Amino acid sequence: MAGKEILLLGNPLLRKSSLAVQEEELTNLSLWESDLKETLEEFRNLYGKGRAIAAPQIGLMKRVIYLAWPEPTLIVNPLLDRFSSDGVILWDDCMSFPRLLVKVRRARSCRLTFTTREGEGAVWNLEGDLSELLQHEVDHLNGILAIERALGRTSFAWGTPPD
Ligand SMILES: [Zn+2]
Repeated sequence: MAGKEILLLGNPLLRKSSLAVQEEELTNLSLWESDLKETLEEFRNLYGKGRAIAAPQIGLMKRVIYLAWPEPTLIVNPLLDRFSSDGVILWDDCMSFPRLLVKVRRARSCRLTFTTREGEGAVWNLEGDLSELLQHEVDHLNGILAIERALGRTSFAWGTPPD
């Protein structure tokens, strides 16, 4: 099997909200997971980066995220809350605009509640890299791209982040 095409900046689907996965759709999860996993692996082979992918990035308008790191996890219908008031400022990247970096602020920690691929409930307390990564991915499910969170006109760079 081959990965799917990744939608790029400018595609209107990236600006749309995705739909919650219904109980009767749980049987689709293993197919969706392999599509997301293979697409992410192809991207990683090409660019040497990519830790997670959101379903709308392959045109699948469902609230599903595939996380390759720290361990492969399918995240269904995620909800983020309990955002810390202290933030981190970082150069963010995205598979939908792979050569562009955007300086954004994310909460240092937050709480993730989701359904697993087995249909069970899970709660993770997120810190650091995982916190900023999931904030990026859940934004995708709401049609929000990192460029919309840019901190200002000097918050864009090509390729490697400036010092
Ligand atoms: Zn992204």
